[in-house]
Amino acid sequence: MSWSSALIKDISKPENLIISSEIAVVIADKFPKAQHHYLVLPLADIPSIFHLNRSHLSLLEELHLLARNVVEVKGVRWQDFNVGFHAEPSMQRLHLHVISKDFVSTSLKTKKHWNSFNTELFVPYTSKAIRTRRRLQAS
Ligand code: AMP
Repeated sequence: MSWSSALIKDISKPENLIISSEIAVVIADKFPKAQHHYLVLPLADIPSIFHLNRSHLSLLEELHLLARNVVEVKGVRWQDFNVGFHAEPSMQRLHLHVISKDFVSTSLKTKKHWNSFNTELFVPYTSKAIRTRRRLQAS
């Protein structure tokens, strides 16, 4: 199994799951780039953001709900987090980053790490965008 499949392997181990639902799970990022850094992944084999279509709207909403849940479980403030996808993901299986805005971590070592969360390389999840798309779909 290649290194890019490590997330798929990790979510198969119950001890790694912070929260799970019937369709998605939350794990800790193994190389956190901030004090709090979690990944929300679907159980369905969706390789990346490039494989999403309209049929995945409710799945995306579930990922976002689990993002909110993990922040609540950790007892920290939602407004202190960025939630979104990397425009150029490196690891297989769609994953939503839930990361605190402090960016204090010994694993944040390079400009590339910083840029991946603080430039257009980070695509924020906005439930508004999802809702708008859903309205368009219904009309
Ligand atoms: P991306 O650039 O969006 O593909 O981000 C992949 C994320 O997975 C990075 O934040 C890595 O730190 C994280 N990561 C890499 N390997 C593992 C692993 N085995 N378990 C959990 N997180 C990992």
